[in-house]
Amino acid sequence: RVQPGPRVIGVDVPVPVRDGRHVPYANLDYAASAPCLEAVHEAVTRALPYYSSVHRGAGYTSQVTTGAYEEARETVRSFVGGWRRSAVVFTRNTTDAMNLLAHAVPTGTNVVVFETEHHASLLPWKRAVRLPAPATPAEAVSAADRALRESPVGSRLLVVTGASNVTGELWPIGELARVARRNGARIAVDAAQLVPHRPIDMTSLGLDYVAFSGHKLYAPFGAGVLAGRADWLRAAPPYLKGGGASASVGRTTRWAAPAEQRHEAGSPNVLGVIALAAACETLSDAWESVAAREETLVTRLRSGLAALPSVHELSLWGDRAPRVGIVSFVVDGWNARDLALTLSEEYGIGVRDGKFCAHPFVGHLLGGDRASGRDTAVRASLGIGTSEEHIDRLLTALGELAAR
Ligand code: PMP
Repeated sequence: RVQPGPRVIGVDVPVPVRDGRHVPYANLDYAASAPCLEAVHEAVTRALPYYSSVHRGAGYTSQVTTGAYEEARETVRSFVGGWRRSAVVFTRNTTDAMNLLAHAVPTGTNVVVFETEHHASLLPWKRAVRLPAPATPAEAVSAADRALRESPVGSRLLVVTGASNVTGELWPIGELARVARRNGARIAVDAAQLVPHRPIDMTSLGLDYVAFSGHKLYAPFGAGVLAGRADWLRAAPPYLKGGGASASVGRTTRWAAPAEQRHEAGSPNVLGVIALAAACETLSDAWESVAAREETLVTRLRSGLAALPSVHELSLWGDRAPRVGIVSFVVDGWNARDLALTLSEEYGIGVRDGKFCAHPFVGHLLGGDRASGRDTAVRASLGIGTSEEHIDRLLTALGELAAR
């Protein structure tokens, strides 16, 4: 049985379907953006009366707001298991965090990235060696090892996803961190799809950087995180130039030294950051029930899909890797767009279709289907507000639509 845990807002809101009825919405699109946790709503409501400028205000509410903003850094640091002196820079989202890291890497850094990455982690690098999709998790480790070992002299950075936004498969980030270390390289993990589903501990895993987004972590849009080693960030020019990032401005400008201030010019997204920190706190206290619940639901979904002969799940590693609650599939006789729209219009089910901002990866997974012109898939992704009824409704709908 599915155990109760934290709750989100907006579960089962009524949505119109084609025959004029309304049905409770089956939101199976958590990997795009997750609904807000009730605890996030409460934290923002509590903060609003004190909502005020941060850092430069002397008034009481400014002090309260500044305290909450800086405390959020500590909450996030502990959520990702960052060491005491690691930097936690607030960004807009994962894309922004990865671009900040790309901006901060020393000139000439040899970046190694798998072409299975989301575009946010694939594209920001000026120069990168792109590794093809590995056939097994072990091959991912050996390919990264080889590529890093063969990199020219200079700093080295391996960039890899924690959990795939296409297949939900977990990448062996601990082992990848070990081979990075062995080759004098750093490792940056795109944790956008990992942190909503699993705890992460940068210190014990040996991760140098992690990036993630608040809006996938049950908080609103607009706040994200780059956490990790401060040295490259402290040495890089400010990501944005302006107030807050400058230590003194005269004829010449001296930039702030701490990694955070240096890269957070302008008035920050205080409420977004408070919300994100509240989500981190809530999840930290609830991993056991969140993970157990998700496991039950994803098993139900995947075995239901496997029982439908015309539905084909996308997977890189089959049963060789554990997964989070993200499942992509194609259905014989349907293109992904029509299928996703029909699921919405007839059944009140929200899924995503397309290439999920991972064009090379989806192209690789659907390679065998190129002849049929199929280059997109449908993705169902689960989270805290997902129920057994949502899963069963999707499975029933797919059974009916496959037979049409
Ligand atoms: N990385 C992964 C693995 C993702 O799933 C996403 C969002 N789909 C991103 C990065 C980008 O996140 P954002 O749009 O919040 O910048």
